[in-house]
Amino acid sequence: MLWSESFIHTLKEAPEAAESISHKLMLRASLIRMLVSGVYSYLPLGFKVLKNIENIIREEMDKTGAQEVLLPGLQPQELWVKSGRDEQMGETMIRFTDRRGRKLCLGPTHEEVITDLVKNQVRSYRQLPVTLYQIQTKYRDELRPRFGVMRACEFIMKDAYSFDVDENSLDKNYRKMFAAYETIFKRCGLSFLSTQADCGVMGGSESCEFMVEALSGEDRVVVCPGCNFAKTAEDGLTNCPNCKNKLETKTVIEVGHIFKLGTKYSKTLEAVFAGKSGEIRPIVMGCYGIGVSRLIAAIIEQNYDKNGIIWPREVSPYDLLIIPLNMEHSRIKELAFKLYEDLSGEFNVLLDDRDERPGAKFKDADLIGIPVKIIIGEKNLDEGKLEIVKRRDNIIVAVGKDSAAAQIRKTLEVRDG
Ligand SMILES: [Zn+2]
Repeated sequence: MLWSESFIHTLKEAPEAAESISHKLMLRASLIRMLVSGVYSYLPLGFKVLKNIENIIREEMDKTGAQEVLLPGLQPQELWVKSGRDEQMGETMIRFTDRRGRKLCLGPTHEEVITDLVKNQVRSYRQLPVTLYQIQTKYRDELRPRFGVMRACEFIMKDAYSFDVDENSLDKNYRKMFAAYETIFKRCGLSFLSTQADCGVMGGSESCEFMVEALSGEDRVVVCPGCNFAKTAEDGLTNCPNCKNKLETKTVIEVGHIFKLGTKYSKTLEAVFAGKSGEIRPIVMGCYGIGVSRLIAAIIEQNYDKNGIIWPREVSPYDLLIIPLNMEHSRIKELAFKLYEDLSGEFNVLLDDRDERPGAKFKDADLIGIPVKIIIGEKNLDEGKLEIVKRRDNIIVAVGKDSAAAQIRKTLEVRDG
């Protein structure tokens, strides 16, 4: 992509209403724009990051054997009345009546819909286990939307649901998902911790939260400096039960949550199957969520410096940013376009072909955080060289212009997530 033709509109300052680092940087780096409070548009750079995260999630979900579906955002309210959660959701759920008088809501989550779907398809133990997942928009009427995409009224989630014949089989699925979640968050360049969480509004018997440490996190956990013990902070624990160390409190962002639902939904919504000897039993369920849009904010909270975002390679909107320092210099321009063409087949390349001063280009480059920059300037070029700079550690390597493509390939092969 040529910057001059792109829809990248960086901002020198973030709007005053933006409180957290990630919210400020997402606005300034042209990832998102606010439509109304709690509702955001994704611009091309933000949408690319979103798609990269979704692809990581899809790959890891598919590896577990889960199958992707897409469930409706519009849901009948009667399903929620039946499951007993209509009242529980309170004003968080966005309800309305259509022209035929049907009572509908915009799905804040999908346990009811998926249970209803599976109930009508699964009859026998032979059709189990099965795990379905989707990546979809959820709607919640948040009392206080905050921190941009972190607490929004419209947000994207990956939600998976497992259906098993018994608790043993659910255990296996639960552990498989736990492992997949670890891989997903690692690939997103996050350092994270997992807790045994309260089941809250989901119900069920066992659950675990995945948390990312961040200054602007809205949740708090206590962690042990000696072992990997972590727990939500509301329990009033001060010492680690494993090794008696004093616990430390950290602010975190919840990015994932896995639950053993058991038969809570299958009982109320009558999702049953015939077992081996013909007996009728409720399906045993698990559910597994990841806040996809929120992950973008979490990744930024852990990967930035005073100049801007530092994207981990796998989620970055581009692999490579080529910066010719003077577009009026014909040899600089020529080399920039040649490299752009040579590398574009292999990598996602952005070329800053704008007629801007070098200072402005460098500022924007640091702000949008592409992991590797190629800088083409007059002085270096006179010696037949150009510079390859890594955004994270600012390590500069000067290379001969003819070996540049090979060197760039080498730099990009090394994962710096
Ligand atoms: Zn400990």
